[in-house]
Amino acid sequence: AKREGRNSIRLFKTENHLQANKDEAIMEAELYKALEQDELTVYYQPKLDAHTNQVHYEALVRWFSPVLGTVPPLKFIPVAEKTTLIQDVTRTVVYKVCADIKQTPELFKNARTSINLSAALFEPELIENHFITIINECGVDPASLEIEITENMLMADPIKGMEIIEHLKKIGFRVVIDDFGVSYSSLNYLRSFSLDGIKIDRSFISQIDQHHSEKDISIVHFIIQLAKKLNLYVTAEGVETKEQFDILTSLGCDEIQGYYFSRPLPLEKIKSTIEHFFDYILQKNHGYLEAA
Ligand code: C2E
Ligand code: MG
Ligand code: MG
Ligand code: MG
Repeated sequence: AKREGRNSIRLFKTENHLQANKDEAIMEAELYKALEQDELTVYYQPKLDAHTNQVHYEALVRWFSPVLGTVPPLKFIPVAEKTTLIQDVTRTVVYKVCADIKQTPELFKNARTSINLSAALFEPELIENHFITIINECGVDPASLEIEITENMLMADPIKGMEIIEHLKKIGFRVVIDDFGVSYSSLNYLRSFSLDGIKIDRSFISQIDQHHSEKDISIVHFIIQLAKKLNLYVTAEGVETKEQFDILTSLGCDEIQGYYFSRPLPLEKIKSTIEHFFDYILQKNHGYLEAA
């Protein structure tokens, strides 16, 4: 009976594995079609510069599939990364961001827009072909774009990481570290790489709330102070509540991103959402914004 049990577990695992492969194959085939049929769109999540109230954006890809429904990027990006489809996804995102910047200059005036760079493109020619060429062709100023690179990507191959960052910087992009603090990594890269900023991972931000956990606030406080000492612009991601917002601004955090300010939105919803937010905090006499 014991042996049978073990066999049936093994069979179950194999079946799960086969099912997962099948799901992935279906998703890959659908993604291939999606790219041909232009099903991918880009949403923008507004971010707020806490010192100047300037709004910046992060571009986040969205896939509304008629067959699979809404597929979150954390599901399909890893599938795309196993194939060359990631190159097409990236080209599509970069192209759409550039087109939006060109077509609605009033929304993007003085704003920086960040784009997430996949580890699968961490090769100079791939970056050139699927990223830089498109931006040049569209005539978008690289200084208005920011590239987000995760800590994991850098630590996987720090030498290559350094080369790529130098290359991106030379062209004129800002470069920031995304999901800062999640991976077990050396802080050494903060001083050796020419970065513009870091984004504190949501897992740290979600810990700071009305319970005022001293330890969690101390960690965030430390990260902000370290960033300041190193002349890095510091963003908090995943800010969902007024408490978090207030604590982070009082700690001197430069930029706030999260549902408290705005969710990621289609382009046409940005203007009214931002206006609504500013009205709301002015009405509440939030004390943070000076009435302009
Ligand atoms: P990320 O770059 O760390 O992006 C932030 C994620 O957190 C986004 O999820 C965003 O919608 C979500 N978020 C923002 N504020 C809040 C908040 O207050 N609370 C909570 N719970 N979540 C918040 P999304 O759009 O599902 O993207 C997930 C990840 O997929 C991104 O993480 C990024 O790694 C990747 N991704 C998204 N778009 C692209 C893209 O165009 N290219 C590449 N290579 N990766 C992308
Ligand atoms: Mg990001
Ligand atoms: Mg992030
Ligand atoms: Mg994240």
